[in-house]
Amino acid sequence: ATRLKKTNADVVKKLMLLGVMANANQVVDFDTAALVCEEFKVKYEREIVVTIEERLIDDSDDADENLEPRSPVVVVMGHVDHGKTSLLDAIRDAHVTATEAGGITQHIGAYKVNKNGRDITFLDTPGHAAFTAMRARGANITDIAILVVAADDGIMPQTVEAINHAKAAGVSIIVAINKMDKPEANPERVKQALTEHGLVPEEWGGDVICVPVSALKHEGIEELLEMVLLTADMLDLKANPNRAAKGTVVEAKLDKGRGPVATLLVQNGTLHAGDVIIAGTVVGRVRAMTDDKGRKITDAPPSTPVEIIGLSDVPAAGDIFHAVADEKMARELAEQRRQEEKEKQFKSTQKVSLDDLFSQIQQGEIKDLNIIVKADVQGSVEAVKTSLERLSNDEVRVRVIHGGVGAITDSDLMLANASNAIIVGFNVRPDAQTRENAHAQNVDIRTYRVIYECIEEIETAMKGMLAPKY
Ligand code: GDP
Repeated sequence: ATRLKKTNADVVKKLMLLGVMANANQVVDFDTAALVCEEFKVKYEREIVVTIEERLIDDSDDADENLEPRSPVVVVMGHVDHGKTSLLDAIRDAHVTATEAGGITQHIGAYKVNKNGRDITFLDTPGHAAFTAMRARGANITDIAILVVAADDGIMPQTVEAINHAKAAGVSIIVAINKMDKPEANPERVKQALTEHGLVPEEWGGDVICVPVSALKHEGIEELLEMVLLTADMLDLKANPNRAAKGTVVEAKLDKGRGPVATLLVQNGTLHAGDVIIAGTVVGRVRAMTDDKGRKITDAPPSTPVEIIGLSDVPAAGDIFHAVADEKMARELAEQRRQEEKEKQFKSTQKVSLDDLFSQIQQGEIKDLNIIVKADVQGSVEAVKTSLERLSNDEVRVRVIHGGVGAITDSDLMLANASNAIIVGFNVRPDAQTRENAHAQNVDIRTYRVIYECIEEIETAMKGMLAPKY
């Protein structure tokens, strides 16, 4: 109305004549606005608003002919003490020869090994917690998860967590049955237990590759790496090395002498020494780049982890980075992101909750209702899972993305955060700290004593008939 030099009422009246029942604060689309302008005999023009982000960062998809194969990025997960660290060490020892760079390996958060002339990139921080924390920041960096299960111990609670975190992220799982050197090793029992969690071994007609290994005695490592390459072949991993680099911050710290130091995993494009990058709210020029063998390098193609210096500040692990052409504009974008972060702290981001589930479904914001189930006994987990998933209807699919025995922990919170899920507990609760964290992160936790109460409450919430809580 202001631009047309008319009153609100004039514009609303015209809209009504055009059959649009709008009020003064309503947004109308371009075509409707154009009709109104024509009615008033006013010239109009379509202005395309381009954000700094769009001007600075080219996130368009690469044409097929520009794509080249890239090596897989692998993470190692599993229950504590099942041998994740030992396995990562065994792989590194076997493949980083003393002839390379004087044999000094650098721990930069990720490393690359070569097998049969092909590279495999391993993330050096074992465990699903770090993995899911990154995913909660929007980073999706792994292609394959190696699930380590000790043959003498079998599937344990964190094994189940790892399986479900990997599944929720949609990464391929290869099972390494570790500690085969132990006399009490029982790989058949492990395989049996795996099937109970939806992982059916190949030799039993499923599609999950299981490799018996001993990280301690360095046995089975080569077979495991071969299986990683085989899985990578099936995934047909590709990237375009001839574009501006894009990737994720794997680790970052402040070094007394060198300033902010960050390990980046390049996921697309090639990162060059001298490039200007923006990582989250941090900007800088890549002053020097070192690979995992401590060598200075000038170019890092896709799937390469590099340690860089030259950033103005320490970015967060899981931050996405982009190489950009315009440093000034990058600083502007960083400032804008800092502002947005500040604002976000006030208004918490939209997350799924039972209280406004119905309106979120109505607005088409939710197609999958993701639920994490924790209970005091396995029987309840199974029963709840089946009953909840049965609530699925045409509008929403109810998916139990993780079920486990035991208290509600920060690891559950992290998964809920990364997968936009609610958490339900039966005869288990979060401790005070976890409850506080859940509140801060806006994760909805509901606890119940009996199963039907839970089913009823979620069913009611899906229909939009949940009584408001006062
Ligand atoms: P993580 O907690 O999963 O990282 O497990 P670690 O790698 O720290 O290993 C836990 C313990 O299991 C250590 O004492 C290792 O020496 C031992 N271990 C790891 N792999 C093997 C193996 O293949 N055989 C045997 N006998 N012990 C192993």
